[in-house]
Amino acid sequence: MSQKLSNKVAVVTGGTSGIGLAIAKRFAQEGAKVAVTGRNQKSIDQAVAEIGANGLGIQGDVSSLADLTRIYQTVADHFGKVDTLVVNAGVYILGPLADFTEDQFDQVSDINFKGAFFSVQKALPVLNDGASVVLISSTVNAKGVPNHAAYSATKAAVRSLARSFSAELLDRKIRVNALTPGPVDTPVFATVAGSPEGAAAMKEAMGNFTPVKRVAEASELAAAALYLASDDSSFMLGAELLLDGGVREL
Ligand code: NAD
Repeated sequence: MSQKLSNKVAVVTGGTSGIGLAIAKRFAQEGAKVAVTGRNQKSIDQAVAEIGANGLGIQGDVSSLADLTRIYQTVADHFGKVDTLVVNAGVYILGPLADFTEDQFDQVSDINFKGAFFSVQKALPVLNDGASVVLISSTVNAKGVPNHAAYSATKAAVRSLARSFSAELLDRKIRVNALTPGPVDTPVFATVAGSPEGAAAMKEAMGNFTPVKRVAEASELAAAALYLASDDSSFMLGAELLLDGGVREL
C-alpha cells in the first residue's frame, strides 16, 4: 500500500459493516489511525479486529447528538485530532408512498439526513484545518425510483450538504465532497431481502440495472474514498464522485 494516510486520523461512521468497514480497513492499510462507530458492540469488536492495531471502536447512534459529542470526545482523547471524516452510517428503508409510515420516515431521515448533518457539526471542534470530509450519498438521489422516495430524498439532502458545508468551511480549508455509489455488494441486500437467497436475487437484479451488469465491490468504494480523503483530491470540494457502473446513462 502507498501509505497515503500515514500520520492521519480518520473517523468512519457506521464503519462496522459493508462500505464503511471496507473504507476503514483500507485507510488503516494506508497508515491512518481509524475510529469506527456503530450501534452494536459485538459488530464494533469484530470490525476493530479486522482493522488491526490502528483501529478504535466507539459505540453510538448517529441520530443522537449526545452520542456524537461523546464519540468525537473519545476520538480526541485517543488520537488528538481528526484529518478525515467519512459520514457513512445509513439505513435503506423502502416502501410504497401509500403505505410508508411516519415511523419509517422518521427513522430514515433521522439517521441518513439529521445524522449526516450533526456528524459533521459535532466533529468541527476536533477536525483539523485542511481536513477532508466524505459524505456517502447514493445515485438514487438524482433518480425517480419507485418505493425509494424517502431514502432518495435523504441522499439528495446529503449531496446538498456537501456543497453547503464546503462553502461554509472554506476559511478552515476543510473540503467536503459526496461519494455517490450505485449498487454495492454489502450486507444491506440481506437486511432488505431477509434471506441469503433473496440477497443473491437482489444483487443480480441490481447489477442488471447497470450497463456493466454487476454491482460494485465495497473495496472499489474504499479506493474512491481514499482519493477523496487524501491530498490527491486537493482541488475537489463541494463536488460529487460517482461510482455507478455507468448507470447514469440509463
Ligand atoms: P450496511 O448496512 O452494511 O452498513 C451500514 C452501517 O451503518 C452499519 O455499520 C450500521 O451499524 C451503521 N448504522 C446504521 N444506522 C446507524 C445509526 N443510527 N447510528 C450509527 N450507525 C448506524 O450498509 P452499506 O451498504 O455498507 O451502506 C453504507 C452507506 O452507503 C449508507 O449510507 C448507504 O445508504 C450508502 N449506500 C449503499 C449502497 C449499497 O448498494 N450498498 C448504495 C448507495 C449508497
